[in-house]
This record gives sequence, C-alpha cells and structure tokens, in this order.
Amino acid sequence: MRKPKDWGQPCPNPACTHYRRMQQGNVSAIATYLTQSGKRRIFRCHTCETPFSETRETVFFDLRTSEDKVMMALKMLLVRVDLAGISFVLGVTEETVLAWLRRAAHQAEAINQHLLRNLPVTQVQLDEMWNFIGRKHAQETDAAGESLPDSADGRQWVWVSLAPEFRLMITAIVGPRTLDTAKEVVAVTKARVAGIPAFFSDGFTCYLAALIAAFHVVTTFARTGKRGRPRKPRCEPHPDLVYGQLVKQKHQGKLLTLSTRVVVGTERLTHLGLRISTALVERINLTLRQALAPLARKTSGFCKDRERLRQRVVFFQAFYNMARPHMSLQQPLAQQEQTRHGAIRPRWRQQTPAMAAGMTDHVWTFRELLTVKFEPLNSQSMSG
Ligand SMILES: [Zn+2]
Repeated sequence: MRKPKDWGQPCPNPACTHYRRMQQGNVSAIATYLTQSGKRRIFRCHTCETPFSETRETVFFDLRTSEDKVMMALKMLLVRVDLAGISFVLGVTEETVLAWLRRAAHQAEAINQHLLRNLPVTQVQLDEMWNFIGRKHAQETDAAGESLPDSADGRQWVWVSLAPEFRLMITAIVGPRTLDTAKEVVAVTKARVAGIPAFFSDGFTCYLAALIAAFHVVTTFARTGKRGRPRKPRCEPHPDLVYGQLVKQKHQGKLLTLSTRVVVGTERLTHLGLRISTALVERINLTLRQALAPLARKTSGFCKDRERLRQRVVFFQAFYNMARPHMSLQQPLAQQEQTRHGAIRPRWRQQTPAMAAGMTDHVWTFRELLTVKFEPLNSQSMSG
C-alpha cells in the first residue's frame, strides 16, 4: 500500500500548520466516492481534521461536467478547433469553455513556476512571431519594426525562448513587439536557467539591449584625486554573455541572404563550439501558430482577446513541455528492454522536453497536467 506521504495531496485549510505542505505524513485517504468520471478519493488532514476531495484545488474542482468532457474541450483548444466548434460538439456554452481554459492556464503557471527552475541550459534561441487575435481589430500597419505599445492593430506577438538541446520552451509570453517585452522575455528566461547560456536570435534590434539589461557588470572608477568631474560608472555586457544573430535579408517575402554575426562574446562562442541558429525556435513558433485557432469573439474587447491568447499560449507551453513526447528526443531501448513489453516490442523510449531537462522522470498524462499539486516554494526551501 502507498504510504500517506506519497499521495501528493497537501492540506487545503489555510488555518492549519500543514497548510499546502507535502510529504509531512499528515494526510491519509479515508473514503472513496463515485462521480460521473469514476471513483475519487476523500482525504483527511490529521493535523486539523479537515476532509477534502482529491480534485480540490485542481482544474476539475466543483465542476458539474465530467472530467472527460473538460479534458476533451481543452485538448481541442490545442489542435485548432475554435470556440464555436467545441461548444457545438460538447454541448456546452463558449463561456464554460473559456472558464475551463482560465483554470488550465492557472495550473500551467503553477507548473512553470515550480518546475522551470535552475535549468541546465547552455544555449537559448529567441524568437517572436505575430498572431492575429481577431480580424475585427485589424488595421493596416507598417510591417517592420516595433509595434505600438498597445498594439491596437489586432496583432499580438508570441515570444518564445527555447532550450534547443532539450526542445524545452523556457518562456512563452504574449506582448507587443517592443523593448519592454524583449526585456521581460530575457528576465524570465534568466530566472529559470542556471548560469548564463549563449543567446541566439534573428536580427531584431531589441534583444541586445534586453540581454545587457539582464546580464551586465558595472565598472566604477576610483577617484583620481585630480580636479574635475569623476568618471561615470560604466555598464558593460557580462564577460560570460554570448549573443549571436542570424540575419535574414528578405525581399517581397523571398529569402535573399542568410548571414550570422556574433554581437557579444566572439571568443567565448568559439570556446563553447556552438553554432548560431534559430531553426528550432522558429519551428516551435510554427507549431504554436498551427495549434492555436483564433479565439476572438464578436462581443469581447481587445484586452480580453489578448488575455485569452496568453492563457492558451501558457497552457500549450505546459502541455508541450510535460505531456507531449518529442520525436527527436526519443531514445533507443536496450535489447532486453524491448522484449519485456510483450508482443508490441517498443524500440524507443518516449521523452518529453521536461524529461530531457531533468524536470520529471515520466511522460505526464493530460489528467496529471491538470491535477498535479505543489507546495509553496518557500516551504520547500525551509524543509530543505
Ligand atoms: Zn490540515
């Protein structure tokens, strides 16, 4: 039998000393009950005597709909079925589907916050692509350069930073094509990786300033004793920072030339032996574009549509990292392992980006993605 500490179910009572703590041995299963989705467990915290259901604080908590239906709706959101289609197939309102999406995005943020930390990443590819969130917002605009901060032209940019060695999406952010968003992408990436990886992007000018804002050293000069104004402190790129660009020259949509240029850290890049490339992050952006159908609704405003795009992007990120085995990451199984599975004899071990990066040891199921619970980060560090 599983020991109480293995349930992965923290106490949900804020007044309890074991509130949201895990692996404390205070929770045990006391009963089961039957739902339309099957048998579910009731737990009790022995510290405060609070009973609670296993779906408490998950995407499924207190829903009248069956788990299968909720999961089907969320899966359809990941494969380009639009709201009206989901609503028609499942017989639920569009508002209901959007409420499930909100919960799923919230859960995905918790997964990112708890698992995307200290990633052993040596290089990062950066890219941004635009996505129409609604034709009705569309206006003619200049296609080049930075967009307006409020980006009222109906285009939103989906920014991705990717660790190519693991195919891992480190960040996925929705925002206008401005220096501020570039800074946010780099800052979030920095917070999730260990050390300073090499960065590669296209020729977009904002990344250099964003990278230096995150990775720099400030040199201050000692007073010389002479008269006159002292020298101002100088802000320089961190000596470990490497940044390379892949510059594409296009004319009327046709690629003319492709050239690479090392912007910062030429020597170190040679030492690391990395090649400047953005191919994999561009592939991810294409995947995102293919996966996410426009979610604009006739009645909703621009900000709401942007928020929904953000929710879908973050949910897709968690699904992609944790629950979707990546073809290029699969590993050959040893001969004796092949025979252990009976008649089918799989020759490969499936791997997700999260497994490749050492964040988890298995391919997560879709249900696991929606129900996994974490204890607060500060209490984890307290207990070591
Ligand atoms: Zn308790």
